[in-house]
This record gives sequence, C-alpha cells and structure tokens, in this order.
Amino acid sequence: MSASHVIIGDGIAGSSAAETIREEDPDADITVITDEGEALYNRILIKEFAKGKLPEAPISIHEPEWYEERDIDLQLNTYVTTVDTEANEIHTHSGDVYDYDKLLVATGGTPASLASYGIDNADADGIDHFWTFQDARSIKENVENADQGIIVGAGLLGIDLAAICGAQGLDANYLMRGESWWRYALEPEGAEILHEAMREKGVTPVFESGVDRFETDEDGQVAAAVDPNGERYEGDWAGVAIGLSFNTEFLQDTPVETNDNGIVTDEYLRTNVDDIYAAGDITWFYDTILGEMGENGSWGSAKEQGSVAAQNMVEDLREGGETDDPEEFRWVSSYSITHFDFPFLSFGHPTIGDDDASQKYSDTEWRRLAFQDGKIVGGVLIGDLSQQSKFKRLIREEREVAQHKELLMEEDVDMDKLEEAAPKPE
Ligand SMILES: Cc1cc2nc3c(=O)[nH]c(=O)nc-3n(C[C@H](O)[C@H](O)[C@H](O)COP(=O)(O)OP(=O)(O)OC[C@H]3O[C@@H](n4cnc5c(N)ncnc54)[C@H](O)[C@@H]3O)c2cc1C
Repeated sequence: MSASHVIIGDGIAGSSAAETIREEDPDADITVITDEGEALYNRILIKEFAKGKLPEAPISIHEPEWYEERDIDLQLNTYVTTVDTEANEIHTHSGDVYDYDKLLVATGGTPASLASYGIDNADADGIDHFWTFQDARSIKENVENADQGIIVGAGLLGIDLAAICGAQGLDANYLMRGESWWRYALEPEGAEILHEAMREKGVTPVFESGVDRFETDEDGQVAAAVDPNGERYEGDWAGVAIGLSFNTEFLQDTPVETNDNGIVTDEYLRTNVDDIYAAGDITWFYDTILGEMGENGSWGSAKEQGSVAAQNMVEDLREGGETDDPEEFRWVSSYSITHFDFPFLSFGHPTIGDDDASQKYSDTEWRRLAFQDGKIVGGVLIGDLSQQSKFKRLIREEREVAQHKELLMEEDVDMDKLEEAAPKPE
C-alpha cells in the first residue's frame, strides 16, 4: 500500500513539503488542505499588489494544474477542525475525514486584532489586517478610496502598510508605541533613516503613541484613532499589524505540544507526537545555531523547513520509525524591504541578544549587529547589503567575535584580519 502524507496549509512551507515528498516518493498519496480559496501565491508580493504596482497574475505561484501534474490532491476552502492522533485522522469543517501515515502542520498564523486587547471598535469597517491575498485586495481598494490613513504596529508588516499608503498617495499617521520604528531590532539612529523615508512618502511617524480606542461614524466606519495620550487622529482607513496568533486551535485536544510561539519541534521538525511534523512560521523549533528554541518568520526559512520536514517524513516512514540520519534544519533567515530608495535587510535574530554594535555610514547607510554569548545572532543592514554573506557565515560558524566590534563595523569587513583576531574553532 502506498504511503499517505497529509499536509495542512498550502503556504510556502506546506507547498514546498508537498513538492519534496513527490520528489522523494513517486508513489505516495499526498493531500494538501487549505482553508484559503486559492493555491500557493507569493505572500511577499501581495504588498506590491496592494500598492497598485503588480497585477494579480505574477503573484500566483501555483495554478491548480501544478498539483494535478504531480498527482497531489489539493483541497481548497477546507478548514481542519480536529486531529485524532490515536487513529491518525484529521477532520474538516465539512465532516470529511482524512487518514494519514504522516501529517505535516504548516498552518502559519493569523494577524492579531486590537480587539483582543479590549480596544473599542477594533474590527470596525475600514480597519484592515494584513496576511492573505484577500486582505491585500481589501487594503488596495480601501486605501484607494480613503482620504486619511492610520497605521498601527511598528514592525515589518506595519512598514508595508506605510509603503502602500505612500504608493497610493494616501496621507497617514503611523502610531508607534515606542520612540522609534522596530525598536527591538534598530536603534533610533538607524530607525530615523526609515522615518525620514516614510515622511517623504506622506506618512508621519508618531512616537510614544498607539491606540486606546477607535471611533466610528454613524455607519460603523472607522473615523479616528485616539491614542493613550488622548490625541485624536482622524482617518477613514486604518491598517493594523501588531503580530500573529498561531493557528493551532485544531490541536488543542491533542497531546501535540504548543505554546504562544506555535508548535514545539526539534531540529528535525518532528513534534512530540509520533507521525506529526510541523514547518514554517508555526514552528517553535530547536535552533542548532542558537543552541536554544527559536522562531523564524520569513519566506526562505518556511520553504526550507517544509523541505526538511518532508524529507524526514518520507525517511521515517520508510524505516518504520525515526531514521538514524535525519535532515537537520540549520538556517540563517533573511527578510528584505524594498520600499525606499535604499535597500534594507534584516537577518538571523536581530531582536534578541545580550550585546550589540551599530554604526552610521551616511544619511542612508547604517548597520547593527546583535550578539549573544559573544556570537553574532542577527543584524540589520540599511543602505549597503554587501557584507551580508560575511555576517551570515559568521553566524553559521558560531564564531565568537563580539570582542572585535571595530573590525565588524568597518565598511568592508576584512575577514583575514578577523580570522587572525578570532580564529575559527577546529
Ligand atoms: C504582507 C506580508 C509581507 C511579507 N514580506 C516578507 C518579506 O519581504 N520577506 C520574507 O522573508 N517574509 C515576508 N513575509 C513573511 C512570509 O510571507 C511568511 O513567513 C511565510 O509566508 C510563512 O509561510 P508558511 O507556509 O509558514 O505560512 P502561511 O503562508 O501563513 O500559510 C499557512 C496556511 O495555512 C492555512 N491554514 C491555517 N489554519 C488552517 C486550518 N485549520 N485548516 C486549513 N488551512 C489552514 C492558512 O490559511 C494559510 O494558507 C511577509 C508576510 C506578509 C503577510
């Protein structure tokens, strides 16, 4: 009998897993289940669609024929409600049951709403969150028709919303809780480069702010945000990007270990329950580079995790238990922003660490590295990305280089000098 692999989620993690399973096992039964109404599309590019810059077509990655050609059963508009880990079955909203030998959970997250923080009118008409292509369609239309915007959430998705307003010519106030944008990864000096770029596009950053409540008009449409200082910002459209809650509800009655960061896995992307694996944004995995549990919220790492999990699913099944030689997920992630005249890249884990170093090189060039236990664990490059592969290599090699900050902050890092100062461990 052929092996049966079921994958929940047709994002990049689930889809890359399906592709890898087919490559590794031409005879396997593969089912991919998604609650979205469309097959894999490029989530990174939906912001360009919302800006009005890209038509729909290039955003789609897989047409339904892609699955047919590979004999992969794709179930669209299907929400998984429960998993029976004793019977190796999953159940859907429509009452269908799928048996699995191996199950991959690649369900990602759902944008958090300010309603969960008790903010009045947080789900009023004209307030958008940003995760799916459907969200992008709504944002595009609402931003095109709005007179004044409000943006909440000083992170990587919030700045996408700011850039969409900029591209569509909608003036907006960007309400941030701290003294600068993405304050956990940047310092005010680096963030100011982004603030200035936002201002040039008609988006005004407002610091030490946020939202205490939204006000609506008589039709229930958002009309203003009032911040904790009592300042009122008018707006007939608001975009909120304050983080994700991970899609694990259907596992709540199972022994699969989950927490606020997602599904707990080892470095092979196995969960604590036999036959169940996880990949992509949903994982809280053992990061072999950090030597501790970590998360990654980026396209490249989700794709790689899907592929690694799939190889282990196939091999574990072939061997009738855990293979002795599993694939390990070991990866330095990158996330770039291309909204402005200068490039921006964050890599690794720039928001953690016990030490850091930063340097400004020009009005649009800045660098910060985050260190933990003397090793680089992440960083942000603004304006000049030419040194990224050196820093990623130092992360992968787990080099203790924090005592050589002056070398690491040189515009062109001299790796020979660094090698002399901090030789690679044998
Ligand atoms: C606007 C935006 C811009 C981004 N820009 C970048 C960028 O520039 N660079 C970068 O590296 N990353 C970027 N990201 C992040 C990147 O897109 C994600 O890290 C990546 O797509 C995660 O893939 P995934 O497969 O793990 O999860 P997802 O893509 O979230 O896929 C999970 C799928 O599972 C489905 N699902 C959930 N629960 C169920 C259920 N119970 N039953 C059935 N289906 C279910 C979901 O609907 C979804 O389709 C961006 C994300 C967004 C939203």
